[in-house]
Amino acid sequence: MQETVTAEPVPPPAPGAEQYLALDFANTAIALPGGQFLDLLGTPAAAQQWLVERGLAPADAGLREMCAAQLRSLRENIRALLASRVAGLPALPAALAAVNDALTRVPTAALLHWDEKNGPYRAAPHPTTQIVDHALATLAANTADLLTGPDAERLTACGSPPCSRYLLKHGRRHWCSTRCGDRARAARAYARRTGRETTD
Ligand SMILES: [Zn+2]
Repeated sequence: MQETVTAEPVPPPAPGAEQYLALDFANTAIALPGGQFLDLLGTPAAAQQWLVERGLAPADAGLREMCAAQLRSLRENIRALLASRVAGLPALPAALAAVNDALTRVPTAALLHWDEKNGPYRAAPHPTTQIVDHALATLAANTADLLTGPDAERLTACGSPPCSRYLLKHGRRHWCSTRCGDRARAARAYARRTGRETTD
């Protein structure tokens, strides 16, 4: 798995990913040429590093596999919503519900507890759970901002298979990176040479 990382370094952020955390997050699942797949949230340590680098978790957050799985699950639902927006199709109800769940689950205050011996008291949820819930809420909120804001018009998926990163278009450019652009141009040139003209 480490060989994969060495052979294909993580591509630079796609256009718009520095502006929208939601795009950055959606693009943590990277399909590379040759059937390789890079998941920046593939392990608890990798997921924690991703969150720490974006100020969404402290370095000692202690993420567990359950937390990383929650992040990957929200990512798939966010990717589904971005795909729906790009295709001009209705949202998958489950994807919409997942984003709204992340938005509403985050506690705004320590909850009231009551036990027989000590009576009422307030306590915050487990710190790690709270960190992850807060990160999920932040990512979901940014997704909602992106989808409902003026930049949603520029949202598109990278036009260079097998890449599946999302980006904000600038002019006619619809590739997430120069590497993807070069690959798409090379594929078109190859198709022309071999007489298999593509229609796009
Ligand atoms: Zn790309």
